[in-house]
Amino acid sequence: MKYAVIDRGDPLSKKLAEQFHTLVSNKGLVQDDQSPEIVVSIGGDGTLLQAFHLYMNRMHDVAFVGVHTGHLGFYADWQAEELEELAELMTKHEPQRVRYPLAQIDLDTAEGVSTYLALNEFALKGVNGTLVAQININDEMFEMFRGDGIVISTPTGSTAYNKSLGGAIIHPSIPSLQIAEIASINNRVYRTLGSSVLLPEHHHCDILSRKEQKLLLTIDHVNIERDDIRAIRCSVSDLRVCFARYRSFPFWTRVREAFLGYDVK
Ligand code: NAP
Repeated sequence: MKYAVIDRGDPLSKKLAEQFHTLVSNKGLVQDDQSPEIVVSIGGDGTLLQAFHLYMNRMHDVAFVGVHTGHLGFYADWQAEELEELAELMTKHEPQRVRYPLAQIDLDTAEGVSTYLALNEFALKGVNGTLVAQININDEMFEMFRGDGIVISTPTGSTAYNKSLGGAIIHPSIPSLQIAEIASINNRVYRTLGSSVLLPEHHHCDILSRKEQKLLLTIDHVNIERDDIRAIRCSVSDLRVCFARYRSFPFWTRVREAFLGYDVK
């Protein structure tokens, strides 16, 4: 099996990456950074986001495994001390492959439509002040948003930025997108729903901003500034991200351990 390792770049993650190569060499795993079947991310959830964006054009062929060198992550669930066990399992066993929903973002600009995939979320903010944008759901006007921004997250991204905004945590088996507001302006003149909205996979939303507005678009950790956006369509992608599971670690156990700190293992 062909594999690649992406590390966060800190001394511990780099050291573990070297150890991993040594542990799996001559045991049936072949390093192939161009077309890996398994990508081992060593660092944190942020490192896995980087690995995902690096191999985004291989979503049909690649599965991810995350090792954390800081705190327990949602994508990085193997501990540094377990690296040997992970390497052993990877050389001897076929993993269970779980597939989670992704967000598709279609930017309609004067140059045409460009498409992006988000593993966590897509965030939209105004660069020079308040974001003013019309939000349509399924091609019908839903609300006129005024405020700091809008975050549209995937189920696995619901534990990230979305959670800080008071959004719900969504189990990744529910293909959906969650729209959360960042500090919307609500008074007698301006009105937004004020609560998060969950769109099922057969729904979509369009964000139409004022023409002269400069926008900051953040897709996971990637920032793009543009002033020529006509519309942004957000939908659940037909593509899924695949994670290789060598042992069970239920989603609600991760949530409990990451946020509440109860470790019952
Ligand atoms: P960062 O600002 O260095 O780290 C953001 C934090 O989010 C890190 O602690 C990261 O975990 C954690 N994280 C990433 N994905 C997560 C997930 N699915 N569930 C729970 N926690 C998660 O930026 P970064 O490392 O490049 O990550 C980009 C992400 O930061 C964005 O996708 C967004 O979700 C998040 N973010 C959050 C806020 C907020 O909560 N107010 C604001 C902006 C961005 P690790 O330490 O394990 O890497």
